[in-house]
Amino acid sequence: MIPVQGYDGKTVAVLGLGRSGRAAAISLAAGGAKAVVWDDGAAAREAAEAEGFEIRDLTKAGGFDGVERLIVSPGIPHLYPSPNKVIAAAWAAGAPVDNDIGLFFQSYATDEWEDFTTIPKVIAITGSNGKSTTSALIHHICVENGRASQLAGNIGRGVLDIEPAHDGEVVVLELSSYQTDLARSLTPDVAVLTNISPDHLDRHAGLGGYFAAKRRLFAEGGPDRCVIGVDEIEGQFLANQLAEGAADDRVIRVSSGQKLETEGWTVFARKGFLSEYRKGRQVASIDLREIAGLPGAHNHQNACAAYAACRTLGFSPKGIEAALHSFGGLPHRSQVVGEKDGVRFVNDSKATNVDSAAKALQAFPRVRWICGGLQKEGGLSGLLPHVGSVAKAYVIGREAEDFARQLVGVETLVCTTMEAAVAAAAADAVSGDVVLLAPACASFDQYDNFEQRGDDFMAQVQTVI
Ligand code: ADP
Repeated sequence: MIPVQGYDGKTVAVLGLGRSGRAAAISLAAGGAKAVVWDDGAAAREAAEAEGFEIRDLTKAGGFDGVERLIVSPGIPHLYPSPNKVIAAAWAAGAPVDNDIGLFFQSYATDEWEDFTTIPKVIAITGSNGKSTTSALIHHICVENGRASQLAGNIGRGVLDIEPAHDGEVVVLELSSYQTDLARSLTPDVAVLTNISPDHLDRHAGLGGYFAAKRRLFAEGGPDRCVIGVDEIEGQFLANQLAEGAADDRVIRVSSGQKLETEGWTVFARKGFLSEYRKGRQVASIDLREIAGLPGAHNHQNACAAYAACRTLGFSPKGIEAALHSFGGLPHRSQVVGEKDGVRFVNDSKATNVDSAAKALQAFPRVRWICGGLQKEGGLSGLLPHVGSVAKAYVIGREAEDFARQLVGVETLVCTTMEAAVAAAAADAVSGDVVLLAPACASFDQYDNFEQRGDDFMAQVQTVI
């Protein structure tokens, strides 16, 4: 755990008592602060009180008296569609609003670093898709290359939950737009943008607000190196804005699909090969086609971003290449979960938006596509140009009929349940087909989360193979 610095003897309020809020309260107390906590849910408050947390009703008049700062969990709206009333009360009281990421950057470096041989580095990854895969891959490459690494943030472990810094380690942080929008300190050594596509638009009042939230990671703290996916205009804009000129190698431009001609430092994947160019010369080439844990052009984008981030640490291309081969992939992302008679079953339950589902569809030549669930704002029209590989769609979810109607030009079967969809897809599939769960929707109409949906898919696959 990282004790929070800077609030010794002060009162700090914490809103939201999920994983990150509880960790923040514990880390604040460890650093000598008095943490007072609040959650809008009575059950969460009672559980926290029973564990010894001090509850304070921050919604009442005077709730912010003597409060130095408010720490907010990422699930709580801080601006759009409307601010949580506790956040509005903090504004009115003049208490600065921050989050656990801000506290981490304020607290990670300590006086002990003076005795370190190698100063630790923080690599922070944001973007619309591929954050978790890229973060896990960077962590894996570090470990395989003999560099101690801790992985945290939006993935698995709360950022204040990690161990205090070790000499020479790398901390890999996956950060969502909610987290980058609110953190008052954002000072990674290396910042990575995987890509940008519309997501969470209600929380940012549109694409512009969403991009602005992510852009803070690059603009607030001035990272030594920025790895930027330039396949969308937002990445092109950001790379251009951060670099002093074409040859400025603080910015590494990354692409999946196009050869980058910029004179500076670039890493791109084309036709399954990763290339690195620096100062006009090719430095490395890696065949990505046989890397089982990273199938498809979207994963090649992740491989390029992770490769670039790790090159900034001084790892050799060969050392990184070996680690790419031993990366097992993450559960629920392009995960091969079974095979029978030449038919592969792939779990991409994490494809919760249109862009990630489109990428999954493009990764395989002939797909029996299990899709549907709770549709996100913006509809499905963005998917239609990418359904060329789909032999048939098997639609699940409470809105299955409406979803199927939108898939104009695609043969569809309304299945509603996962059980029916897997059974029908397996019965129709012939050798060479991939039965792919890539819902393009949230899971909450039928499941608690995307993990549970993926687990159901895997269980149903076991009954047909
Ligand atoms: P995130 O943490 O950003 O949600 P994940 O690595 O968990 O990213 O992947 C989320 C979904 O997006 C999965 O369905 C995955 O297959 C897909 N995906 C992974 N990498 C990319 C990428 N670079 N571009 C588009 N989709 C991707």
